[in-house]
Amino acid sequence: VDRQQEFVLRTIEERDVRFVRLWFTDVVGSMKSVALAPAEVEGAFDEGLGFDGSSIEGLSRIYESDMLLQPDPSTFQILPWRGEVEPTSRMFCDIQTPDGLPSAADPRHVLKRQLAVASEMGFTCYTHPEIEFYLLRSSELGADGYPVPADRGGYFDHVTGGVAQDFRRKAVTMLEAVGISVEFSHHESGPGQNEIDLRYADALQTADNVMTFRTVIKEVAIQLGLYATFMPKPFSDEPGSGMHTHFSLFEGDTNAFFEAGREFQLSDTARQFIAGILHHASEFTAVTNQFVNSYKRLWGGGEAPSHRSWGHNNRSALVRVPLYKPGKGQSARVEYRGIDSATNPYLAYACLLGAGLKGIQEGYELEPQAEEDVWGLSTAERRASGHDPLPGSLHDAIRAMEESELVAEILGEQVYNSFLRNKRDEWEAYRQNVSPFELRRYLGIL
Ligand code: GLU
Ligand code: MG
Ligand code: MG
Repeated sequence: VDRQQEFVLRTIEERDVRFVRLWFTDVVGSMKSVALAPAEVEGAFDEGLGFDGSSIEGLSRIYESDMLLQPDPSTFQILPWRGEVEPTSRMFCDIQTPDGLPSAADPRHVLKRQLAVASEMGFTCYTHPEIEFYLLRSSELGADGYPVPADRGGYFDHVTGGVAQDFRRKAVTMLEAVGISVEFSHHESGPGQNEIDLRYADALQTADNVMTFRTVIKEVAIQLGLYATFMPKPFSDEPGSGMHTHFSLFEGDTNAFFEAGREFQLSDTARQFIAGILHHASEFTAVTNQFVNSYKRLWGGGEAPSHRSWGHNNRSALVRVPLYKPGKGQSARVEYRGIDSATNPYLAYACLLGAGLKGIQEGYELEPQAEEDVWGLSTAERRASGHDPLPGSLHDAIRAMEESELVAEILGEQVYNSFLRNKRDEWEAYRQNVSPFELRRYLGIL
């Protein structure tokens, strides 16, 4: 038993913890949870906890169904929404094969592997997500066939007497109680749409935080009689929910993206990182935007990016470099605006980081920034400026991913194949479905 494990065991005893939930994530980013009695935790540290991986999407092939959960003691947290008396706690887990090796099918391991590549190159990767979601009255649909938003507020609105403020206050308090620091929270543009931005942390911790965040937000919504959704585009005519993520690479204590005096104060490392992301964006879009519905956001306006471009402080760009504030070189970073709120954060961050690192390894050249509003250009103008479109549908994204050696390498064969299989099934189900839109549109023709 190591020091961190000892701390967990002691806390369980001192706080009289009743349940210890072990959390992990399947290939599409659904959280899985199993509750342990406190007496079983020491055994789980020693030997892992056995479970049937073949029943979990993408986790293992049927002939290797016996898998182990190895709890990561550094992620131990009491879950405040379950009450103070006999509290419930959780730990994130790594998935292992029966012989105690990391499972190639574990999304958390996929990200760890990419962080190890970064580390070999001398970098630590920090990330800062801006998470958008909709607050709804309930999960039931209204008479118009759409969900019913919790309020009618818009961007930065202060809705007097509105539920959103109470909600954000409660959510932020709850997030901080589980060790997640919040930087900003505000009403977003859509009715009932909110955004909460987490303080930067290393990429693995951020991915864990995103998973915890989704759970906390859903719990707090339920407590207030509401419903929260991270669906990328719940309303045809309102903005979708993005999860813009800022990336920076540090070499020791120094931000490797910053170089005083250069254009936009961006180092070659930063420029190559951006070039890597832009170059490979279409190949990993199936991961950062994994649902049929994700493409309704990307192609439905509402400030979502649909073309490959980067820009200094340009919100129409896929990659945005925030304005440099004098003396703030350490906060140099690049923001990826394509990713949505329903992604598997482990796989998405592994792809984004992997593509950026590829740009550095190969010394990719960065194209000139988009000076203009990319949304306002004609197709011909966009083509002339090299702003290629992102995949237009899940089908196109699957195609691009199937052609990608880089994404296969980043995800590893097993995750790559099971992810693609899952997405082909989803596309097939969608393709066969006759939707209310089609009935409205075609029933009466001819
Ligand atoms: N909701 C927009 C999106 O889908 C982003 C709005 C913003 O710039 O925060 O990406
Ligand atoms: Mg926003
Ligand atoms: Mg943003």
